[in-house]
Amino acid sequence: MSHQQNSGVDILAGQAKVLFGSAYSAGVANMGTALVFYLLIMQSNIGGYASIWLIVMLAISVARVGVGIQGKKNRLKERTEPLLRRYFVIILLLGFGWGFVPIMQYQVGIPEIRDFSFLIYLGLIAATISTLSAWIPAFVAFVLPQFTILIGVLMLEQNTFSYFAAVAMAIFTLLMLVSVKHINRRLIETLALKSANLRLIEDLNGEIVRRSEVQKELERHQAELEGAVDERTRELVDINESLQKAADERQQAEENLRYAEQYDQLTGLPNRILLLDRIKHATSTSAREQKMVAVLFVGVDRFKTINESLGHTVGDALLKQAASRLELLLREGDTVARNGGDEFAIILERIESPNVAEVVARKMTKSLSESFDIAGHTIHIGASIGIAISPSDGDGPQQLLESADTAMHRAKQAGGNSYQFYAEGMSQEVRERLDMENKLRFAADLGELFMVYQPQVDSATGKTVGFEALIRWINPELGFVGPDQFIPLLEENGMIHSVGEWIIKDVARFIQSGESQGCRVSINLSARQCSQVGLGDFIQDVVDAFELDPSLIEFELTESMLIDDFDRSTVLINKLKKMGCTIALDDFGTGYTSMSYLTRLNIDVIKIDRSFVTGIDSDENLRKIVYAIIGMSQSLEIENVIEGVETPEELATVQSLGGNIIQGYLYSKPLKRGEELESWFNR
Ligand code: C2E
Ligand code: CA
Ligand code: CA
Repeated sequence: MSHQQNSGVDILAGQAKVLFGSAYSAGVANMGTALVFYLLIMQSNIGGYASIWLIVMLAISVARVGVGIQGKKNRLKERTEPLLRRYFVIILLLGFGWGFVPIMQYQVGIPEIRDFSFLIYLGLIAATISTLSAWIPAFVAFVLPQFTILIGVLMLEQNTFSYFAAVAMAIFTLLMLVSVKHINRRLIETLALKSANLRLIEDLNGEIVRRSEVQKELERHQAELEGAVDERTRELVDINESLQKAADERQQAEENLRYAEQYDQLTGLPNRILLLDRIKHATSTSAREQKMVAVLFVGVDRFKTINESLGHTVGDALLKQAASRLELLLREGDTVARNGGDEFAIILERIESPNVAEVVARKMTKSLSESFDIAGHTIHIGASIGIAISPSDGDGPQQLLESADTAMHRAKQAGGNSYQFYAEGMSQEVRERLDMENKLRFAADLGELFMVYQPQVDSATGKTVGFEALIRWINPELGFVGPDQFIPLLEENGMIHSVGEWIIKDVARFIQSGESQGCRVSINLSARQCSQVGLGDFIQDVVDAFELDPSLIEFELTESMLIDDFDRSTVLINKLKKMGCTIALDDFGTGYTSMSYLTRLNIDVIKIDRSFVTGIDSDENLRKIVYAIIGMSQSLEIENVIEGVETPEELATVQSLGGNIIQGYLYSKPLKRGEELESWFNR
């Protein structure tokens, strides 16, 4: 339904409302007026007709009230038009009914009554304006029949006044029509405005509802959006946080990695990588100022032995303490680094002369040779230091460090706890040593190692009393390599343990084979072996396994071993003695053996070093020394063996001094098993 139609219906309904609204009062007024009129003329000659008229009028008026009531009930405006039609007919009937009034007046013929009724009549019509003007058809239906009849009646009288009255009535009717039309338009306008307003309000209400719905929808969307944004923001924050965390972790990991890459975990010192970097840096800055850089390569003496005998925990603690002692000796700006294992390196920057390095090296050897107290152990180490100076001893950091390393090895070879400046040619030696060390690793497996046995002879009787087992190494490339050369290598790289055990077993086999013909065989033990954990048990196992007479086995130890680690040596010696083996003190006279050791340790044999024997026949001092040693050993009831007797003169001299057991080239060089030994016994 369009607005236009809608407003039409609304206006008609509005008119009907006004119309039906007054139906009741108008109906009652009509009835009253009709009754008054009847009362006026009922006494006249047409009283009979008048009462019929009154009944009809009353009936019509009741019908009018009935339609009015129906119209009032018609709230939904559905039956407006049929009701209006019915009302129209009733009003028309009423119009005709009232039209009978002038006719009846005329019949009555009483001018007073007629004038009076005329008045009522006009008043009734005037009153009708207010009620029937709402709907013009009703007004017309009411007025037109009456006026037509009235004018007709006046015309029939045919006098001047009645003509005049007829014209006046016609004009009155027209004026009323105009007036009613006017009122009606105003009503319609008002109704239209009201309807429009209502519609507007409806529209506005609709709009408000729509808007509030839209608003609600918007708010919902906004809330959803905000929720989504919040959610997303939270996600982003989370993501951001986890990214940040990941980044932090990564940075930390990188830092850790960088630290691990550049620093030694145990000591916290720069490692080799950072060391090389620092050397590079130091050489370039010092070169600009035309100054020198010293690189000191520090090797801890006897570290491997301590690590093996006391365990890695003690070894680690020792390295830490050694590192802090080194740090204490340095100026700010100098670097201590750990090159690896038991090796440290020190960089002294911008020095004027190599003497500075020498002073530092001396301090270091002194500092590191002072005892360490670790886990209840008193530990003695030392430092071998190699010094390389930039720019003379190497171009790059690598080379400089190598030179210092080389010099350190030389210091070690020289007996340790000392320093050595790098010198040209050292590198060559070190390379050769490395080559040899490499070959040595495979020597045992390749069968390049074997034992030889040097007889010990009682010069008084000429009888063989024992053999010293000595190791030999013949390498296809290097040829014969003396034990003096490779035993220190074996000690340094720790292979001495396995090689030492191999020697013990090989000697056991030799004794078991009977080739030694019941003579005692002595085995050399090196310093590192002496502190090897479980060596005593190993020897016991071998003796048991080969069912050897332990008294046929002698072990040779050196004085320096006793000094290095007296406690351990004592334990080992006691164990071996308890087993029934004998102990010889090798190279006697070259070390600083306290005489009390000999008795305290229950030494069976002392071997007087070759250096006291060579040329003894022509050297009064040597003679005195050897005489004193022999005398002392005899009084302590210790056997003595004279080493290195090469000439009959030397033999004669030694014999004259009371030395009887001789081990020397004069009698025999060390012999190979088999033919050489057989011919020795058959000599
Ligand atoms: P050492 O224990 O003092 O051994 C004696 C060395 O003197 C042996 O040298 C021997 O061949 C040599 N010699 C014996 N008589 C004479 C002589 O009249 N004149 C000369 N000039 N030399 C003589 P070698 O076999 O070269 O051994 C050298 C060192 O190597 C040994 O000194 C010993 O300390 C070590 N060594 C040798 N074999 C072994 C071994 O099986 N185990 C261990 N731990 N060390 C060994
Ligand atoms: Ca020896
Ligand atoms: Ca010796």
